[in-house]
Amino acid sequence: MSKWPKLTIGHLYPDLLDLYGDRGNVLALEARCRWRGIETEVQRLSLGDDLDLSQIDILFLGGGSDREQSILVKDLKCREEELRRAVDEGLVVLSICGGYQLLGKYYQTGGGEKIPGLGILNLWTVAGSKRLIGNVVVEQNSPSLSEEKPQTLVGFENHSGKTYLGPDLSVLGKIQHGFGNNGEDGGEGVRYRNVFGTYLHGPLLPKNPHLADLLLQLALERRGYDHALPLLDDQLEKRAHQAILSRVLDA
Ligand code: GLN
Repeated sequence: MSKWPKLTIGHLYPDLLDLYGDRGNVLALEARCRWRGIETEVQRLSLGDDLDLSQIDILFLGGGSDREQSILVKDLKCREEELRRAVDEGLVVLSICGGYQLLGKYYQTGGGEKIPGLGILNLWTVAGSKRLIGNVVVEQNSPSLSEEKPQTLVGFENHSGKTYLGPDLSVLGKIQHGFGNNGEDGGEGVRYRNVFGTYLHGPLLPKNPHLADLLLQLALERRGYDHALPLLDDQLEKRAHQAILSRVLDA
């Protein structure tokens, strides 16, 4: 029998929230589990589907346009209480751009419409007049202790929303290049308990394998397993990470 518990990944609204390869994050989590002999199951859940969060180890929400955000918000709001409870109990969540915005209090579009969010995170987003687009390099807030692992996150952003965090929240990292949360305060993303929000598409996890492994480690710990994850041969992933760093920082 495998020493690892099976991990179940819930992919929420895969048909509506999937920009710039976001689905690749789920593929990366699956692959990194498979390479270690950890069994995974992916549940793809959309409007009206039954979601039993007690069965989910990692919940993933990708990015989407304002239009898609308004389509799904009613459905998402019905799940608010269950999601809030699960987050309090340590559910691991990765949310990108539009998905990240929806975990906050609201997203005010360029036309002035206020799309309500779940309010699970004390943050809010207001569309600016200029789109924030381009490659991003972020210095991680909690640097990795291992010199083997990159200290940065790299990705691609494209959003008009500017996100502001309440004082109780910490950013995922500091912007070295790009705009991040709002292009003003130098912050990118958020970490609250085991919830990660970020503007980084790309997809994010294949070229940031250290973040992928952090999510897996947290999910396994929540199932009571405290074995350290065996290292993988990440030469290719690190080269992809380094290629973005060089392209952006040397320019
Ligand atoms: N609609 C949001 C914005 O433009 C989210 C976009 C995205 O998910 N890339 O701010």
